[in-house]
Amino acid sequence: MNATVAEHQDREISRYLCIGCPMGCRLEVEEADGDIVEVRGFSCRRGEAYAKQEHIAPQRMVTTTVRVENGLWARLPVKTTDAIPKELMWDLCEKLHELTLKAPVKMGEVVLQDALGTGVDVVSSRDMPYRES
Ligand code: SF4
Repeated sequence: MNATVAEHQDREISRYLCIGCPMGCRLEVEEADGDIVEVRGFSCRRGEAYAKQEHIAPQRMVTTTVRVENGLWARLPVKTTDAIPKELMWDLCEKLHELTLKAPVKMGEVVLQDALGTGVDVVSSRDMPYRES
């Protein structure tokens, strides 16, 4: 969640909630003429880096499920190996929605390589054994 407020004519303060740990520090990024001039409210360097990243180019991990043929269950939980640009999240979910895997699948197995050209893979979050009929 964030909010941007024009504090002065050429200065803007954007506010973010850090999700790095349960402390939930309230972060502020002050920008002037398109440049970050100060980051406030963090209690550790991780929060400072998160505030800058969230301000410049927000990223998100993606977790969803993919259809599986002949598996013990109909859908397999999958996740990205790293965060991807936030604006690509829904495109990736749509691409994964079109995918059908064949059991068996091992936990950690790559189910989609270099997702949308991001350099990030999508991997299985668990084993999916073959369904004996
Ligand atoms: S700034 Fe650091 S201490 Fe605060 S919520 Fe983020 S990770 Fe946790």
